[in-house]
Amino acid sequence: MNIRNFSVIAHIDHGKSTLCDRFLELCGLMSPLLKEGQALDQMSLERERGITIKAHPVRLIYKKGGEEFILNLIDTPGHVDFSYEVSRSLAACEGAILLVDATQGVEAQTLSHYYLAKENNLKIIPVINKIDLPNSRIEEVKEEIFNLTNEKNISLVSAKSGIGVKELLDRVVNEIPSPLIRKDSPLKALIFDSHYDKYKGVIVHIRVFEGKIKKGMKIMLYSTKKVFEVIEVGIFELDLKETNELNSGEVGYFAALIRDPKDIRVGDTVVDYKYPNVEPLPGFKVLKPVVFASIYPTLPQGFESLRKSIEKLYLNDPGFVFEPEDSSQLGPGFRCGFLGSLHLEIVEERLEREFGESIVITYPSTKYKIILKDGEEIEITNPSKFPEESKIKEILEPIALVKIITPKDFIGDVLKLIEIRRGKFLNMIYIDPNRVIIEAKIPFSKIIYKFFDDLKSVTKGFGTFDYTIDTWEKGDLTKVDIVVNGKLVDALSFIAYKDEAYRKAKEILNKMRGFIPKQLFEVVLQAKVQGKIIARESIAPLRKDVLQKCYGGDVTRKKKLLEKQKEGKKRMKMIGNVEIPQEAFLSITEVE
Ligand code: GDP
Ligand code: MG
Repeated sequence: MNIRNFSVIAHIDHGKSTLCDRFLELCGLMSPLLKEGQALDQMSLERERGITIKAHPVRLIYKKGGEEFILNLIDTPGHVDFSYEVSRSLAACEGAILLVDATQGVEAQTLSHYYLAKENNLKIIPVINKIDLPNSRIEEVKEEIFNLTNEKNISLVSAKSGIGVKELLDRVVNEIPSPLIRKDSPLKALIFDSHYDKYKGVIVHIRVFEGKIKKGMKIMLYSTKKVFEVIEVGIFELDLKETNELNSGEVGYFAALIRDPKDIRVGDTVVDYKYPNVEPLPGFKVLKPVVFASIYPTLPQGFESLRKSIEKLYLNDPGFVFEPEDSSQLGPGFRCGFLGSLHLEIVEERLEREFGESIVITYPSTKYKIILKDGEEIEITNPSKFPEESKIKEILEPIALVKIITPKDFIGDVLKLIEIRRGKFLNMIYIDPNRVIIEAKIPFSKIIYKFFDDLKSVTKGFGTFDYTIDTWEKGDLTKVDIVVNGKLVDALSFIAYKDEAYRKAKEILNKMRGFIPKQLFEVVLQAKVQGKIIARESIAPLRKDVLQKCYGGDVTRKKKLLEKQKEGKKRMKMIGNVEIPQEAFLSITEVE
């Protein structure tokens, strides 16, 4: 059997999912979604936003000169927050297509995904896409790719029109090595992803490295030593397709009535329970979340259902972490960690859409290390857990090493942006005569909110960035508490630089005031630092019943008004007797 396992990697929007559409067509895999484009982006959230969030595996049969090849293709997301999806996909492959947009050239995530593929020792095929566009810069982009990869053989394609796509598949077959086949050894398969199915339990996505997995066989999960009987084995077509077995070298899935999502760990090795004494596969490095926020059910009785949904979502998104917590004002909920702020947004939306949860989410914050005067060092992912100021010796904050790629015309504006975000410029190199990579160190808390938006706006949409958390540095920080009608709301506390605390507190209260509906009594909002009030706003009470505004007996209008109120109530929490809507919890994200 001829097998090729490969991924398509690129910066966001360079055409990965569109190229996969052409591969599907060439191999005769028909999807009703092909007409609309990006057929592998099947999640409604992906189609609406036009971005890939999850890696999507699919198996194709390609015929070349009388020979048949099985292609296991994985489409991957491009956004920096989803790099973990990319790195897990690459572990299941022997090769990768590195796609670069002919009008954009090499971008920030082109670099980071290229290095990921290199680390995984993959054969990389560089490709320039969108050559149909009149403003494509093929020669310059060739040079950029050569400078990055040292590769001269660069394929030219248009994923939209199909030019060069067949030749590219021929290259895949010729140049990407077939997997090492070890049929006669005991089973060893790598878990690279999973999802939950109501009937079959956890569906485990695997790459078989040695031996085979068959229906009816008993397998053991290496890290937990739990044994299950396999009830179904199959491959990824557009849906799951059952086969009898998966052999060494193949990518597919199995189900074994695994009901507890916690039994499955991404990166774990699946073995034959009769031959458990094998060396496990290396797995993945555990990713550390950098953005933290709390998720609460809108009603406290929703907690158990939320817990189950979060566990199931986690199966499909192992970059996200969670633990139960109790807020004095908001009741039981979860403190969650995310890989970035887009990741947080996506988790929030998936919980609501896929699992039907009604939730409220609090301010995102990063992690701080605090050294106490007694020498103890603690890590804080929740501002409400901040120790008393008198006990603190120093506070360390995470610093991001940021790489920004921008046309040279915007260098000045980008440097100004770095300064506004309290960053330090490190250096700058030209990747071609017109574009530079700027390296800077910026406190991570200063790139969580809207940094990308601001970068896009100062570079007229051309700038891109990537980052890694680099070091911890001392920061002059303090905790700001928010008090609503005399009640300190722990879930609204935030950490700010001392010289920004006053301004931020004022702006946030002002925003909150706009989001909190008038009540029958006055609502007073206060911000406090170390017990001292630094800002105050109030919301005047409602004068008359809202319904009195509806003159006469216009019943439908009254009904509509009531429904609108009910709708608005869905995502809010009661603090004492004050209704706080979701937007008010996130007002900090609107303040820089
Ligand atoms: P991804 O983020 O890398 O998966 O990119 P998509 O496949 O979603 O494509 C991003 C956008 O580029 C879409 O609007 C596509 O229609 C467009 N696109 C992709 N390939 C081509 C191409 O070869 N030519 C042109 N003109 N547009 C393309
Ligand atoms: Mg895509």
